[in-house]
Amino acid sequence: MRKRLLLALLLCVGCQAQDLRISVFGLFKPYRLTVRPAPGAILRIGNQKLADAGEATFEAATVGSKPVLVESSNGELTLSVPGRIRRRFHGALELYQSKGLLRAVIRTDVETAVAAAVAAESDPVAPIEALKAQAVVSRSFYLASRRRHIDFDFCDTTHCQFFREVPSVNSGFWRAVDATRGVILTYQGSTLVAFYSANCGGHTRPTRLDSYPYFAVDCPVGGRKAGHGMGFCQNGASELARQGLSFQQILDHYFPATALSMGGARERQPSNARLVPSLNLQP
Ligand SMILES: [Zn+2]
Ligand SMILES: [Zn+2]
Repeated sequence: MRKRLLLALLLCVGCQAQDLRISVFGLFKPYRLTVRPAPGAILRIGNQKLADAGEATFEAATVGSKPVLVESSNGELTLSVPGRIRRRFHGALELYQSKGLLRAVIRTDVETAVAAAVAAESDPVAPIEALKAQAVVSRSFYLASRRRHIDFDFCDTTHCQFFREVPSVNSGFWRAVDATRGVILTYQGSTLVAFYSANCGGHTRPTRLDSYPYFAVDCPVGGRKAGHGMGFCQNGASELARQGLSFQQILDHYFPATALSMGGARERQPSNARLVPSLNLQP
């Protein structure tokens, strides 16, 4: 399998990932948002440059329903709902008014989004092979189920996947993402909408979707079930990694009959992705 993966990596040198559009802070129902560029960087709002490196504040009443593009000259910006939350993001920001509130959508490349999702979803002390498996699962989910929302691809809650700040470049999260760059799970030639939960309770829940027949597989971790229990089990994956299994073996365990390949696999149709619209990935 290792050999096949290497070959696939070589074949993908020319393949290009498309940006994902992820809505952030929607749970805060923001009316006002503040954007600040990274230190020393310059903010560009639409065609206008804010050369003083200062912050910009937007209000729903003055932003139209057509998206305003906000970019930082080094690709990094800090977005905040004043007094409530502040996060650093990598990518461009689209702001627009929707139902009297501000909608903030981060446009970011797939691998950066995967790193942010792995960091948000994983135990920081999880073994590296478990983090690599999570990276493949999160990437497969993102690539297979774009447009889970009408105006953007994904939200930043458990409805899609948690998405928070991009982790530091030296973190295990990024090492896991880099080591599996572009690798996805496929079933019968299509990218798998790979579901996962925190703890399956001892065996995963069989569910037959027309995209994939989720199997009931035994898991080395029992205890209280947390989440829907379908597919990848995060606690179980950490235990299997501690027992010496590689990320490929861990994924084989939780997703029987699937294969690993590079991101060039045929993407599934959005209509299929909507088969389980309200299924939360975690409790
Ligand atoms: Zn969502
Ligand atoms: Zn489990």
